Amino acid sequence: MGCDHEVRKRDWFRMSNGVVKSHPICKKCGAVKNLSSDKGRKISHFIIILSKLRTKLIDRGYKISDAQIRLIVRDLLEIDGFDDVWSITYSQQRDYFIRVVQKHLRIPRWVIERHFP
Ligand SMILES: [Zn+2]
Repeated sequence: MGCDHEVRKRDWFRMSNGVVKSHPICKKCGAVKNLSSDKGRKISHFIIILSKLRTKLIDRGYKISDAQIRLIVRDLLEIDGFDDVWSITYSQQRDYFIRVVQKHLRIPRWVIERHFP
């Protein structure tokens, strides 16, 4: 399961905006703390997006079962570190989310993307 992260040391990493910054590193799992403004969100955030997406699609005549929704949530939670807001970025979570949703529902990427904040 998830690591509770204990910081042992710091190291220098370049962030997506090009700035090099000293980042805390977990001594247990080696994860690097995300210091960017691109902060990851808890799984509940994505479950809400999923439920809005489902409502929208059902309005348009798609059939989406509870089982499909459960499989999507299960697949998301199986991704190592998906729910770990200490290290993951929202951009990474968004990519994973789109990939998993498209595995279970045949809908275009832009339909999913419209539901992100
Ligand atoms: Zn850790």
